[in-house]
Amino acid sequence: MDDLSLPQFPFDNSYARLPERFYTKQAPTPVAAPSILAVNDALAADLGLDAAELCSLGGAEALSGNRPLPGADPLAQVYAGHQFGGWSAQLGDGRAILLGEVVGKDGKRRDIQLKGAGPTAYSRMGDGRAPLGPVLREYLISEAMAALGVPTTRALAAVWTGEAVYREQGGFPGGVLTRVAASHIRVGTFQFFGAREDTDALGLLVDHCIERHYSEAFEAENKALALLTAVLNAQAKLIAKWMGFGFIHGVMNTDNMTISGETIDYGPCAFMEGFDPKQVFSSIDQGGRYAYDMQPGIGHWNLSRLAGALLPLVDEGGEKAVEKAQKTLDVFPAAFDAAWTDVAGRKLGLAAPGAEDKSLVNDLLTMMAAAKADFTLTFRALMNAAAGDEAPLREHLTDTATLDPWLVAWRARLTEDGRDNAAVAEAIRQVSPIYIPRNHIVEDVIEAGLHENFAPFHTMNEVLADPFTEQPGKEAYAAPAPADGAVHRTFCGT
Ligand code: AMP
Ligand code: MG
Repeated sequence: MDDLSLPQFPFDNSYARLPERFYTKQAPTPVAAPSILAVNDALAADLGLDAAELCSLGGAEALSGNRPLPGADPLAQVYAGHQFGGWSAQLGDGRAILLGEVVGKDGKRRDIQLKGAGPTAYSRMGDGRAPLGPVLREYLISEAMAALGVPTTRALAAVWTGEAVYREQGGFPGGVLTRVAASHIRVGTFQFFGAREDTDALGLLVDHCIERHYSEAFEAENKALALLTAVLNAQAKLIAKWMGFGFIHGVMNTDNMTISGETIDYGPCAFMEGFDPKQVFSSIDQGGRYAYDMQPGIGHWNLSRLAGALLPLVDEGGEKAVEKAQKTLDVFPAAFDAAWTDVAGRKLGLAAPGAEDKSLVNDLLTMMAAAKADFTLTFRALMNAAAGDEAPLREHLTDTATLDPWLVAWRARLTEDGRDNAAVAEAIRQVSPIYIPRNHIVEDVIEAGLHENFAPFHTMNEVLADPFTEQPGKEAYAAPAPADGAVHRTFCGT
């Protein structure tokens, strides 16, 4: 193909076929001099796309938004949302443009979106642009999450625009991220129509979401409640997975919570190092609303906003509807508890964790909190302990008065499963990474990128693509921040 021919995306745009009040059609705004910084070969292959085409000059033109892709139907989605608890009746894609959807080789439909592609009807005071730093950050962390097995939006490509983006702190290189998602429909999308009492739109949105994400709910007697149940279960499992890796989303606003159950909107998120259940990284989260251990409760609160929006479809509104929705919502704490027990129990090497294992989990977490033990490495040390080497664990948890009896109880519980030591260690390895995107390294990698050195970015991506396997020579990626180099605050920087 000649260099300027465009990549082929087999678009089929179901969202664009919804009524016009769901979006505003908007083409990306061209940029000065786009160049491709990264293309995700594995994801491109899953989508049935040609990675070489994406890397070409034509790829840079298309993924920067400079030239329209054949078959795309670009639009900005409208939504509303509660941000830090406060209601915003009008939000929407202010700096992201949905090009369309592609059905991949696996039969799954996915959105192709350009983030940082210029202003839309929903940009408010914003410029519609993204600095390169947050683009690289989202690429790294969302792909790390995918490799960890956490449902998430993905990064297909990162482009450097050749233009500056201006923020309070000055000018930065601009970037565009090609984001891929099962869909970008949010709790806030339902809230937008709920607040406008647009029952027809809510019905269309329920059908659209069930078709895309929860086809098993199609036959349900009450589709709105079936959707609520499905989202609730997906979010309970998602948040449990986050917490199993020490992940703190940081901005769990209702407009940043998907219906699909994928993690979305990587802003000031971070992986915790020393365990502190109250850990917060985001500079704007002054009250600790989105702290590590607040996440399940906030998830529940957000789902109750979804339930509220769905009420007119639950039972012609009124008290009966509230009663039914409440009954569905009340399942969340138990759903999360079950999901969390499973996640945490498996990190202890248990074959089939149950409610009776909660104290074993909680006692370990209490020791970890008391010692501010590195979340990732402590679980990894448990793998060594299972294999017979307790030394690494004893480095993290030095209080033998609590650790010794815990080890006795843990081994007794493992005996019930009847697996040999090697099998237990292997089970722990599969759910306890050695590599996570450690904040201090992420910041170094971004800093290098801003100086046009992208080698560290690519190396880190490669390491994080196989997070459960020890890689020779990559020790630095596994090590906690040096005492004077720890990152305590993260910024949206958007
Ligand atoms: P976030 O906190 O990143 O989830 O963004 C909240 C809202 O602000 C969303 O509706 C975004 O589309 C919008 N927004 C954030 N940054 C920009 C920007 N640079 N230009 C326009 N809109 C933006
Ligand atoms: Mg958002």
